[in-house]
Amino acid sequence: MSHLSRQRDGAGKSVHITTFGCQMNQHDSGIVAGLFKKSGYLTTDDIEDADVILFNTCCVRAHAEQRLYSRVSQLKPLKIRKPHLIIGVGGCVAQREKAALTDRFPFIDVVFGTNAVADVISLVERVEQGERPIIHVPEEGSAPSSELAATSDRLRIHAWVSVMRGCDNYCSYCVVPYVRGPQRSKPPDEILGNVRSLASKGVVEVTLLGQNVNSYGQDLDGGVSFSRLLEILNDVSGLLRVRFTTSHPKDISKELMEAMRDLPKVCEHLHLPVQSGSSRILERMNRAYTADEYVRKVDMLREIVPGISVTTDIIIGFPGESDDDFEQTRSLVERVQFDGAYIFKYSSRPGTAAEHFEGKVDEMIIAKRHKALLEFQKSISIRRLEALAGSDQCVLAEEYDTTREGRLTGRTRGHRVASFPGDGSQIGKEVSVHIARVSRWTLVGKGAEAL
Ligand code: SF4
Repeated sequence: MSHLSRQRDGAGKSVHITTFGCQMNQHDSGIVAGLFKKSGYLTTDDIEDADVILFNTCCVRAHAEQRLYSRVSQLKPLKIRKPHLIIGVGGCVAQREKAALTDRFPFIDVVFGTNAVADVISLVERVEQGERPIIHVPEEGSAPSSELAATSDRLRIHAWVSVMRGCDNYCSYCVVPYVRGPQRSKPPDEILGNVRSLASKGVVEVTLLGQNVNSYGQDLDGGVSFSRLLEILNDVSGLLRVRFTTSHPKDISKELMEAMRDLPKVCEHLHLPVQSGSSRILERMNRAYTADEYVRKVDMLREIVPGISVTTDIIIGFPGESDDDFEQTRSLVERVQFDGAYIFKYSSRPGTAAEHFEGKVDEMIIAKRHKALLEFQKSISIRRLEALAGSDQCVLAEEYDTTREGRLTGRTRGHRVASFPGDGSQIGKEVSVHIARVSRWTLVGKGAEAL
């Protein structure tokens, strides 16, 4: 029986889902939650209450993996108290570890890989019928279909839409190509159908997801580019905004920058991970661009799309990173003036090329550089945010501001959070907000006018 034809077999039961890692994982968890809901399950925040406990895991960072192991090991007493409890682990760690997970934690009932999200209900059903443990980690598999994606209605006005899976880039520190496989783009018609269906249900903003959206379509017959996909989606009626992540600096094209300028629904925000400001380290990372090329692309972007917000990711302490390499990163950060940056400490991942690189950087040095760069970037981010005081911003009203009565919060087109006076009737609409000041990373607006 397919998971879509099952109806409400889980009535009266509840599922608890914990998600580690990236937006792709958040998106997959949304689909899983939608499938359980369709089968009659309730979702619960109380892990002790749940009939099914699932972890959607991430092995990109060692920290997330350690947290997973610690959380799973804490479930042993609960499983002893509640023998019918079903515990499942999915995502990257499941894809990589397979049966090693149930060897280490024999109370795990089901391990499902990154290509098996759509199968999760039937796997739980098999466990209920007495089959355990189940290790279901296909190397290939259909990505969840648009119909499945649309079952997730966790967010009423915003939705994540996966446009591709996998990655061919093999950055030397990254496990994604090994655990998510090669790049597979979804056909534009399927994505269009998905977005139309979401828009007809009241979704006004979509974020298109892929490990490297700039190379979208290169694996499809007919060679549809990512900018062409944006053009197609820009025409979806009812939709107000289109965002996307993640972009790879080596693949970002002038054509895409012009599409961001010309397509009214595509928001002026680009997340463009630089990872390091040292070309020597970028080469060791196998990123296929130099620091200068990166800076030139951002300059071109800002010239084509004035006022665009640019954010990035940076890894500190990659093997071989010297004081001078770090200084080059600091200087690139100063030159580019990012609106925001996720700054990570390097953690070695098993199975990656960098695992065997020489020149491991001392933890204390990594911590010192990390702190220094965080503080430096924070001062830049605040300055750039404060520069918006006095301007009028187009804000999509998203929800009530729980910290300030009589106000709503939403996001500007540049993805900054704003709080402004308003009422529930504005939620899901764009309004013009006059920004009076900045408070704790939030743009505080005086008034809001309909657009
Ligand atoms: S582009 Fe590099 S960092 Fe991003 S998913 Fe692919 S291999 Fe990993």
